[in-house]
Amino acid sequence: MFARAPEHRNIVVLGSTGSIGTQTLDVVRQNPERLSIVGLAVNSSVQQLCDQAVEFGVEHLAVAQAQPMQKREILTQALASRAKEQGKALNPYIACGPDAVLELCRMPEVDLVVNALVGAAGLRASYEALRAGKVLALANKESLVVGGDLLIPMSTHETLLPIDSEHGAIYQCLLGENPAEVRRLWVTASGGPFRGKTRADLANVTVEQALNHPTWKMGSKITIDSSTLMNKGLEVIEAHHLFAMPYEKIEVVVQPQSAIHSMVEFSDGSVKAHLGTTDMRIPIQFALSYPERWQAPVEPLDFRTLGSLEFAAPDTDTFRCLALARAAGSRGGTLPAAMNAANEVAVAAFLAGQCSFLSIADAVEAAMDACDVQPVESLEQLEEVDVRAREAAAAYLRNQSRLA
Ligand code: MG
Repeated sequence: MFARAPEHRNIVVLGSTGSIGTQTLDVVRQNPERLSIVGLAVNSSVQQLCDQAVEFGVEHLAVAQAQPMQKREILTQALASRAKEQGKALNPYIACGPDAVLELCRMPEVDLVVNALVGAAGLRASYEALRAGKVLALANKESLVVGGDLLIPMSTHETLLPIDSEHGAIYQCLLGENPAEVRRLWVTASGGPFRGKTRADLANVTVEQALNHPTWKMGSKITIDSSTLMNKGLEVIEAHHLFAMPYEKIEVVVQPQSAIHSMVEFSDGSVKAHLGTTDMRIPIQFALSYPERWQAPVEPLDFRTLGSLEFAAPDTDTFRCLALARAAGSRGGTLPAAMNAANEVAVAAFLAGQCSFLSIADAVEAAMDACDVQPVESLEQLEEVDVRAREAAAAYLRNQSRLA
């Protein structure tokens, strides 16, 4: 007998207006008899949040950024009357601030939390969801990069499901396998928009060029991370935690078509690969349907028209962020937290036109050098490391722009 998913799941979506969030809602739209949304959280997109609340009949709403009390009341009333116009009885409550987001994770009726928040801010929500005994469907890879040492002991294979396409792929390749028989994990990378370029080519690239990802359509932070290969570095650390795999057994291979989402190599030389179209609703739905698979209206992969699949080693001299992340992961402790925080600052600065593309890696390295690496002990400690690394990265970038 195959294991069955619970007949119905109540879910909370954190980051519901982002790329993963809206695609999660798409999956719920396709499966209304199996999934209900009972809470939605956004960073600041209040109007879009209200649209989603009306459509899915969601009463518990959280906005991470503080809002004036008056605005909240107007929004709540407008929301209730819009729902009424559509013949729906809705008694919404909009709470604001970071704690409001955490509160959603703790609601007793919640079975599963989709964490699609951006950046290190997602860690506390992951922590609260697991602490409250919820299944965590995790798209916020920074949670594991920063706090993997805290989250993994709180979770099991059944309560922590990755939404990242590579990790969803590896998770599926490992189903029914003995972890002791795994020789290597192969994490695939598209190579991003600058694949094949040299450092000299990258000196003057624009934000627009970096945002032009060849295969995946995603939010701006992760798209820049994909262009620097930092995203792949974060994913190596994520894989280390999720699959209890030492770093020397995790390889990165460039697969420009993104048809292979990752692979697992076993001790007898067999390799299992996960393939599919580049549609994030596949890994999202798997995390929500596990241990079942449900029908999905995605474009099937047609091997007759796929053409050739290419493979190459990543160029870590040009894309230093991948090497830096791997070094941070291998050293472990609080260093990945510092590395990640510095990267968030540097990516924000690049997006704002305040630093060059190549400075992102330099700022990350400067903050890593300044980090006094300790074993991970608590969320509070990680938040302090985060603050210090942000200051170190910002100071580096300020200095650099003064010299330029
Ligand atoms: Mg990925």
